[in-house]
Amino acid sequence: MTTTNTELEELLMQRSLSDPELLAAAEAAADFRILPDATVLKIGGQSVIDRGRSGLYPLVDEIVAARQNHKMLIGTGAGTRARHLYSISAGLNLPAGVLSQLAASVADQNAAMLGQLLAQYGIPVVSGAGLSTVPLSIAEVNAVIFSGMPPYKLWMRPAAGSVIPPYRTDAGCFLLAEQFGCKAMIYVKDENGLYTANPKTAKNATFIPKISVDEMKAKGLHDSILEFPVLDLLKSARHVRQVQVINGLVPGNLTRALAGEHVGTIITAS
Ligand code: ADP
Ligand code: MG
Repeated sequence: MTTTNTELEELLMQRSLSDPELLAAAEAAADFRILPDATVLKIGGQSVIDRGRSGLYPLVDEIVAARQNHKMLIGTGAGTRARHLYSISAGLNLPAGVLSQLAASVADQNAAMLGQLLAQYGIPVVSGAGLSTVPLSIAEVNAVIFSGMPPYKLWMRPAAGSVIPPYRTDAGCFLLAEQFGCKAMIYVKDENGLYTANPKTAKNATFIPKISVDEMKAKGLHDSILEFPVLDLLKSARHVRQVQVINGLVPGNLTRALAGEHVGTIITAS
């Protein structure tokens, strides 16, 4: 469908901003991706970073080598320290917006530590949602590190009946990949991918190599390896129509996933 600017302008002056015809007209512009060659990685907080050296050193080596061929936006999770903060602040009956800020400070700490490990390669830690230095870093050193928590802070939309922020670092990293129109989104965690049940507690759980968002929900797996709001974000995404969850504790997995290989679970929008 083609819409002239005048038509769109008229609709914008006359209609509600959620009017279906207005939305369709606004959608008619050609697709544009800001950083189409970059891949967003999320390095898990609890699953990887909390393991310290054994989890991170091998991944740092892979990132440094992969940087020759790939452009990467590397987001950090929060993990156990954030869960500790949640437990204290939920006990104090503090709201989701406060918990969101507290969790962000832990993801920041993790980004700061990863930043020290990658500093000698010129890879910077960038702060804030604007990410003003991202394009230059991506062009010059092929990588940046960012703190994975989305910067909603006090404006975090609370979940019904809970003070735990629903949009955490899985969501923050996904949103960045989608807004920048990145090539791929890879979640680096500590299991081979999605199983029929949590493999940490269900010994008979079986591995699922590929699944759609709807199939995941139908199987009751919507709240499992990814924060569940990510599934809806993925379903309505324009650019990032699938994500891969990989086991970052297996050497070589990250490198292979960056090259587009299927080494974990691929979750598709449709
Ligand atoms: P992160 O450190 O990135 O936040 P999480 O620890 O939140 O990662 O999520 C990964 C964990 O999800 C795995 O370690 C696993 O124990 C758990 N998990 C729960 N259900 C499943 C499932 N069905 N398949 C795989 N992992 C699952
Ligand atoms: Mg998590």
